[in-house]
Amino acid sequence: MTTIPFKPASRRLAGVFNRIDAARDDLVTLTRDLIRFPTLNPPGEAYTPCAEFIGNRMARSGFSVDYVRGEATPGDSDRYPRTNVIARLEGSRPGKTVHFNGHIDVVEAGNGWTMDPFEGVVKDGRVYGRGACDMKGGIAASMIAVEAIAAEGLDFAGGLEISGTVDEESGGFGGVGYLARRGYFDAPRVHHVIIPEPLDVDRVCLGHRGVWWAEVEVTGHIGHGSMPFLGVSAIRGMGDFLALVEQELYPQLDQRRTQMPCEPPGARTATLNFNSIHGGLDERFSGLPSPLVADSCRLVLDRRYLIEEDFDAVKSEIIALLDKMKSRRPGLDYRVRELMTFQPTMTPPDAEVVTTLDHWIHKILGKPARHIASPGTYDQKHITRFGQVLDCVAFGPGILDLAHQPDEYVDIDDMIASAKIMAAAALSLTGTLSAD
Ligand SMILES: [Zn+2]
Repeated sequence: MTTIPFKPASRRLAGVFNRIDAARDDLVTLTRDLIRFPTLNPPGEAYTPCAEFIGNRMARSGFSVDYVRGEATPGDSDRYPRTNVIARLEGSRPGKTVHFNGHIDVVEAGNGWTMDPFEGVVKDGRVYGRGACDMKGGIAASMIAVEAIAAEGLDFAGGLEISGTVDEESGGFGGVGYLARRGYFDAPRVHHVIIPEPLDVDRVCLGHRGVWWAEVEVTGHIGHGSMPFLGVSAIRGMGDFLALVEQELYPQLDQRRTQMPCEPPGARTATLNFNSIHGGLDERFSGLPSPLVADSCRLVLDRRYLIEEDFDAVKSEIIALLDKMKSRRPGLDYRVRELMTFQPTMTPPDAEVVTTLDHWIHKILGKPARHIASPGTYDQKHITRFGQVLDCVAFGPGILDLAHQPDEYVDIDDMIASAKIMAAAALSLTGTLSAD
């Protein structure tokens, strides 16, 4: 992404932009330093040193710093504490608070890398490494943005906050979920939240679809494999349920369209995936299996639902098909175990955080912003559900398609552009600057 030369009319904003341009080498070093913490999730490696690295740096920039451990959340232990960091800089006069939230955890490196994923290699105007795109490049850009405002010594209004949080890749319960339940995203503490997830530097992500994960178990009656008529096969029952889903549910799901601008467009319909299925004898047996009629068959389903769908209806249409299977196959029963639910969320396109980012994206990149919604969830769900901040979006420098890939990278020019957009948006949203 190349940017047009944009000269802000405001002397204060020009000062902030000059500082961001001058911080280019610092931004690259900061991104590399963040990548070098192997914050793998699972298990939650190096969370505390990475959070302290961010906290120490923000403290040097004049921010007050808090560490909050997601006590007793999934994976939390003394060996792998869920350490979050929140830094805040108070403005000199009343105004709104803008919060930048980034997750410090990364997924495993996997195969296919042509370099060390935790080295932070700089090549061809890019920084490479696991998390470069998703989302340490975004964290670094937002840190440089708020530091430039602080260093410029502006008498800015309101407050600026920045957080590094854990476990986004595994649901965010020990990270933003934990903080949101404890008031860290409530007004009047916070008014606008920007999450620098990698969604392409000219796009604003308004929200995401909902998710319902559940385990369905069909139960039957065990028997000898040579006399299956004396048992009741749970596998055949599950097969019947799956056939009903194919015949009756999938055609309906394919017809349901959302008004949300989900990308890729395939995600603008309701979707259903089966994560796993297992029936009969435990798959870890060695040698030959025993001749048994399976009395249990389990599957894990992943239903992504639309903001236009009713959650109870989402569940009951699955239950109705299980009831239908049960009614025509005597001796079978079923159970549904809830695993995880997140509601869909979407910030309206005319919300102040959206229109402000649109404005600055257009000014700084020289082309109109695009709005998208995410097919999967991210930490916005916690902020809008448990926090009281409905003015929340994702906007960051990384390229969406590179997330979780080998040789993941972030473009340095994109980080500079997004840092300017974030700084200008923060100054507008806090009430420091009228639109320039
Ligand atoms: Zn991410």
